[in-house]
Amino acid sequence: MTLKVTKFGGSSVSQASQFKKVKDIVLSDPDRRFVVVSAPGKRFSSDSKITDLLYLLDAHRQYHVDASNVFDLIKARFVEIKETLHLKYPVEKELDALYQNLSSLSQNEIVSRGEYFCAKLMAEYLGFPFLDAADVIRVNHDKTIDWDATKARLKTAMNQYDHFVFPGFYGLSNNGKIMVFSRGGGDITGSILANIIEADVYENWTDVSGFLMADPRIVKNPEPITHITYSELRELSYMGASVLHEEAVFPVKESNIPIHILNTNAPNDQGTIIQERNKVQRKYPITGLAGKPGFLSIYVYKKHMSNEVGYMRKVLSVLERFNVSIEHIPSGIDSFTAIVARNEVEDGLYEILHAIKQAVQPDELKVLDNIALVSTVGNSMSHQPGMAGRLFEALGREGISIVMIAQDSNEINITVGVDEKDLARTIQCIYAEFVQPSNVDVQIYETAPSKGKSLI
Ligand code: ASP
Repeated sequence: MTLKVTKFGGSSVSQASQFKKVKDIVLSDPDRRFVVVSAPGKRFSSDSKITDLLYLLDAHRQYHVDASNVFDLIKARFVEIKETLHLKYPVEKELDALYQNLSSLSQNEIVSRGEYFCAKLMAEYLGFPFLDAADVIRVNHDKTIDWDATKARLKTAMNQYDHFVFPGFYGLSNNGKIMVFSRGGGDITGSILANIIEADVYENWTDVSGFLMADPRIVKNPEPITHITYSELRELSYMGASVLHEEAVFPVKESNIPIHILNTNAPNDQGTIIQERNKVQRKYPITGLAGKPGFLSIYVYKKHMSNEVGYMRKVLSVLERFNVSIEHIPSGIDSFTAIVARNEVEDGLYEILHAIKQAVQPDELKVLDNIALVSTVGNSMSHQPGMAGRLFEALGREGISIVMIAQDSNEINITVGVDEKDLARTIQCIYAEFVQPSNVDVQIYETAPSKGKSLI
């Protein structure tokens, strides 16, 4: 028997009709025994997520403002699910009790109730036992997971239940208080369970059929990504391709448990499998590409910089002092450039430049704004001669000027900086070079094993 942890995101449980789809999916496969749910999400794009409404409810509580309107909205959402599906769980009574006690509850307790009530209703609807995250997941004060305590509790629970519905997004702190994870953290819950149960697969059901090779608002009908490694995913998510909570990767990556991203609204679509050591044959030399605007570069030049030990460190410490994280540092012999996100520096840019001048007395200090970064990602690019050449040549042909190039020695990512106005064109151009026209002489690329040695 295959062990599956099956997690449904907010849009998959947003209303009664979505619950029905979940039931069909769960009952169609007897391996789907461990079900994790988020709180009901949006039913349509202008709708509100229950978790957002719960945060709003808490804000009303904090500022002593009448919260009855927000409360009614929350209650109506749960009542719709209960009544349409003819469930018995007294969700309205439980919600009323919550409302009555609002002033004595913490923010964490209040916002965790979205997943709690959803899991209660889902458990009854599926005919599965309900297992509360507060009885299983233990969170340390720094919000990391207390793995030993959580493992012990889950193992004990599993002696009692061989299937259950489990609310995502929260656990209990070591001093007995409910603690929620960061937003979207239901994905983390699923990943923790998959790790401890030693699942064969962690299914993550959402409202898209996995990842696409490029943003469909920029490239028409981009190809789906059927397989991706965690490292590739991390590079693409960083650039904005987000389907899964970033932190959800770590617990399963450790044990190489694949995450299968699937679409509740199109359950027969192939989806995307995320796994580190997947030896799959790839149709294209790249796995995907993504880009985002909003960067600027700080260029520092000093004659004979290369002879001066600690020069770069001094500049970087100024950025550190201003709490600015650095995206890339392309360098020359006597110069280097720090690429940073504009929103991290814009309020204090002149102070930062002044501090750099004082720290290292550069001969030249320049800022170039309106930079977009585009990352082309793919394990198959690793140690394939000519990949970077093809990419630059394609951009050159298109008349796109590159202001920065970065490639790490793992060679799974080539990032270029271009003017923000060229962002979409850059993505289209790289996509056309490596992916389309795909019908011409399709070569099969293998995922190349990394030749580098990891020292940690
Ligand atoms: N309900 C929480 C949120 O909206 C967690 C989740 O959906 O995963 O952030």
